[in-house]
Amino acid sequence: MTEKTQAGPVLLVGSPEDIHVDVVARRLGEEGVEAFVLDSLAFPEKTRVSLSDDLEGITVDGRPVGRPGAVYVRQFHGHPLAMGVDVSEDMEDDWRTTLVVFREKATLLKGLMGRWEALGVPLYNGPSSDWRTPKPTQLALLKAAGLPVPRTLWTNDAEAVRRFAAGQRVAYKPVTGGAATKELFAEDLTDERLGSLDAAPVTFQELLPGEDIRVYVLDGEIIASLRITSSALDFRQNEERVEQVELPAEVARQCVKAAEVLGLRWTGMDLKRGADGVLKFLELNASAMFLGFDARAGSDILGHLARTLARAARG
Ligand code: ADP
Ligand code: MG
Ligand code: MG
Repeated sequence: MTEKTQAGPVLLVGSPEDIHVDVVARRLGEEGVEAFVLDSLAFPEKTRVSLSDDLEGITVDGRPVGRPGAVYVRQFHGHPLAMGVDVSEDMEDDWRTTLVVFREKATLLKGLMGRWEALGVPLYNGPSSDWRTPKPTQLALLKAAGLPVPRTLWTNDAEAVRRFAAGQRVAYKPVTGGAATKELFAEDLTDERLGSLDAAPVTFQELLPGEDIRVYVLDGEIIASLRITSSALDFRQNEERVEQVELPAEVARQCVKAAEVLGLRWTGMDLKRGADGVLKFLELNASAMFLGFDARAGSDILGHLARTLARAARG
């Protein structure tokens, strides 16, 4: 083999059984670039990771990967609640040890990402954006940068909720995401209902009644913008329509800026139109799924992502 300047392979962090990891790996292969999967679901049971005290001293399954060409971070499987993880038996058996195992695993993987970041490896996405991505941080940062976000309150204070809800339609949802958004009604403002805030804080937000928009930004460029139409009364998935839309120049500029503010090289963001007609940022996802959107809207988010990773790997 002739020697050439190549930094590869592209490292994929996640489970090979995750369809996004699988498909990105195969597409990279078609681009003539090797994809190497750090199977984070099988770590530490099967996947072997060794880090020495040298920044580049990184071995995964016996292979030195000190400087991959690029890294696609799909998932760490670093928590018992993470998607694809099923440890209910281990948790029932010995929850404390199980939690310790996850904490050890997550710390090592985060430490590994930090090294690649320090080495200048292009990470999609890297740990430098971690502190900015929790929604209470990201929305406030976006607003501070002059971008439109819905009025929002994250709280476990019942009185604060009553004050916030006065005179406006309000939606509520988990702080982390992953559960349905509901409208807050007068009957939710009783002492009894709001007493559940003793158990966990909740997101309360200006209810945005308008259209749902999903935008993908990769390395500072919009690679797909989609409109999702679903009837609120009928939420069967096949009632949902996804189509590509052209964004007004101002909104496109805002989306690129939002990704930059949060330090995300790669993101799928949710926007929704308010009663005042303004499209507002609901969130930027650091590891957005995209295959469903490609399939339904005919976009090529996969192609863009794979070509970008391949280009980085070719150096
Ligand atoms: P997740 O991280 O769970 O995806 P989002 O903030 O994106 O959280 O909310 C999920 C969906 O719920 C949004 O795409 C939107 O359709 C709906 N939604 C969220 N917040 C509001 C809101 N303030 N008003 C109306 N609908 C909302
Ligand atoms: Mg969302
Ligand atoms: Mg989300």
